[in-house]
Amino acid sequence: MNNRFEYPGDREQKSAARAKALEALLIEKGVITSSTVDTVLNFFDSKMGPFNGAKIVARAWVDPAFKERLVADTPGAIAELDLPEGMAGAEGEHMRAVANGPGVHNLIICTLCSCYPWPVLGLPPYWYKDPTFRSRAAREPRAVLKEFGLNIPNTVEVKVWDSSAQIRWFVVPERPAGTEGLSEAELERLVTPEAMMGVAVAKAA
Ligand code: FE
Repeated sequence: MNNRFEYPGDREQKSAARAKALEALLIEKGVITSSTVDTVLNFFDSKMGPFNGAKIVARAWVDPAFKERLVADTPGAIAELDLPEGMAGAEGEHMRAVANGPGVHNLIICTLCSCYPWPVLGLPPYWYKDPTFRSRAAREPRAVLKEFGLNIPNTVEVKVWDSSAQIRWFVVPERPAGTEGLSEAELERLVTPEAMMGVAVAKAA
């Protein structure tokens, strides 16, 4: 059996210990203060997060012309909406949206490290940065999606988009069936970060 891509059981603890040691060292060297990390986390909890992405996707669901613009010129379309200042900065440079459709499912990854569109999705989850996830998602995306509980039929093409400092991708999931009567605000609540990463689909509540 080939265990090359097996997840080590202690990977999360090891990474957490490494991050803690790095933070302590940076504080000791005076590069950051003890509140720097909390300040950054707070900013991405309150100002820049998946709630911005949810607004963008919900608008795309109710306005097909906006959806077209969003895919063609993502920063331009995002600038039309009433979102916090700085959507195009702080890891939001060069964001590009790709839309799922009846014949195509999109998945975003970063094979090199952890590039991610922070202003629309917030901080990347632990597993997004995991070397095993990154390599497996590129080599066998369907198998990985299955482990997320997503069975993509063979008739649907799976496209994997590799984010980098040049382009940070996010997915516009398909609008769930049975949501015709919902308002834009209600639709926003159906848009999860996982759906905008492509490891899930949006579901009616
Ligand atoms: Fe990266």
